[in-house]
Amino acid sequence: MCACCRLLSGKEVACDLLLEVKEAVSKLSGRPPCVVFLRVGNADASVAYVNQKKKRAAEVGIRSLLKVFDSETTTEQMLIDEVKRLNEDASVDGILVQAPLPDSMDFIKVINTIAPEKDVDGFCSINMGRLIQSEPAISPCTPAGIIELLKYYNVETAGKHVVIVNRSLIVGKPLSALLLRHGVLGDATVTVCHSRTKDLRSITQQADILILACGRPCCFDRFYVKKGAVVVDVGISRVPAQNERGYVLHGDANFEDLKGYVAAITPVPGGVGPMTVAMLMKNTLKAYHLCHH
Ligand code: NAP
Repeated sequence: MCACCRLLSGKEVACDLLLEVKEAVSKLSGRPPCVVFLRVGNADASVAYVNQKKKRAAEVGIRSLLKVFDSETTTEQMLIDEVKRLNEDASVDGILVQAPLPDSMDFIKVINTIAPEKDVDGFCSINMGRLIQSEPAISPCTPAGIIELLKYYNVETAGKHVVIVNRSLIVGKPLSALLLRHGVLGDATVTVCHSRTKDLRSITQQADILILACGRPCCFDRFYVKKGAVVVDVGISRVPAQNERGYVLHGDANFEDLKGYVAAITPVPGGVGPMTVAMLMKNTLKAYHLCHH
């Protein structure tokens, strides 16, 4: 890594955040916060993500439960009924439905059933609406984690042109809302790109801060990026490799090409991923407080 290019390590920031959550949890009187993960099916990536979340929860003293549903026999209504039951369960503070759901189920319909104060992913329409209105809300973990990462490394957003290559509910839409807020870590000029954007390169080249999240491994090299920009690589793709796991993880950025060219860049793995999980723990603690008041 060249001395003039900073590595934005999400691992380091997440470690600090998790310590904060652990300390706050240890000071709570009564039972610890409790989050329930609902997973439909056994897709490798979903299993790995939920396991990682459970592991982090245990490390910070948060209780977590996993309910696995058969993807062949479970209906959307059965999942909704379970969410409604958990909404009423006073021993549960947080509910997370692991995406993706089978094609037979409507993810939006299911998550909109989660009580807003227990919606630790922050995806339900009430939390999203509050986010747009700049009202207090549980913010989606990945965008909130990116903001925390920028804050930790003193990356200013005010007046900067931030280009986000993603318009999903999980990344691009909530992140653009956060960056557009008035005040510290907002006040950015935001451009959101997607698969129908014309001449993507001419737009990404204008970014002071470039957020990549389209799931195209190693695609973005210096031809897409302004010299001295800050690159936040959200993308995670499993690329087949001859190792024990059979794959390696890659981001959307061509890290090797960019590392001596940009001012700062997040690695994959070890960048946005750990921030997402740490923010989930923070959101669970927030949900606990909301449920107790
Ligand atoms: P998604 O819903 O499939 O969104 C992908 C976005 O990229 C869409 O907006 C899509 O445009 C856009 N896109 C795809 N191909 C493009 C192209 N050639 N040019 C411009 N835009 C293009 O996926 P997601 O759930 O948001 O996740 C995106 C990536 O981030 C994945 O690699 C995922 O694994 C990763 N991710 C990482 C974390 C983390 O914690 N690090 C968290 C969430 C997601 P359209 O809308 O037009 O289809």
